[in-house]
Amino acid sequence: DAAADVLRSHVRDIPDWPQPGVVFKDITPLLSSPTAFGVVIGAIADIARERGATTIAGIEARGFLLAAPVADRIGAALVPIRKKGKLPGPIRSATYDLEYGSATIEIHADAVPAGERVLLVDDVLATGGTAAAAHGLLVECGAEVVALTVLMELSFLPGRSRLGTLDIVPLLAI
Ligand code: IMP
Repeated sequence: DAAADVLRSHVRDIPDWPQPGVVFKDITPLLSSPTAFGVVIGAIADIARERGATTIAGIEARGFLLAAPVADRIGAALVPIRKKGKLPGPIRSATYDLEYGSATIEIHADAVPAGERVLLVDDVLATGGTAAAAHGLLVECGAEVVALTVLMELSFLPGRSRLGTLDIVPLLAI
């Protein structure tokens, strides 16, 4: 479909970044094309509307670039899920394992009123650790997470299997 085609032509592979052996999916060509970016934001907005999302949660940092225009387009609340130490108010936090070491993400404890229907948004689903942690934070807040939408799901990695019954809606699976 249109969004998948746009992603095939506007996301570039950067080999050996941030470390040897990793092929990084770089979305900056997508961001620099107003037409392509509009197609992708429109596709996420359609998913959000179909699922009755009232809040769009974006994961720092590239998730913010997607969540903000979608929230504005459909008139939904925007909630940032941030890296450790960035949010000023009372927080909930989740720590998860990386290949080497660990990472922590945080959400304002009062960011999502109980019962909100939340669409979680990020650019890439890889091992699933980030999305699983973000999903856990939203559930702790009392949210109903209606789906996770990503631009690209890396299907050769076991990300999906770490997300239980969460509905995962990639615009492109590779
Ligand atoms: P995971 O936790 O391994 O699923 O990694 C997902 C997180 O890392 C997301 O927040 C992505 O933004 C980022 N990420 C992992 N791989 C890539 C990539 O190839 N391109 C862009 N972001 C990536």
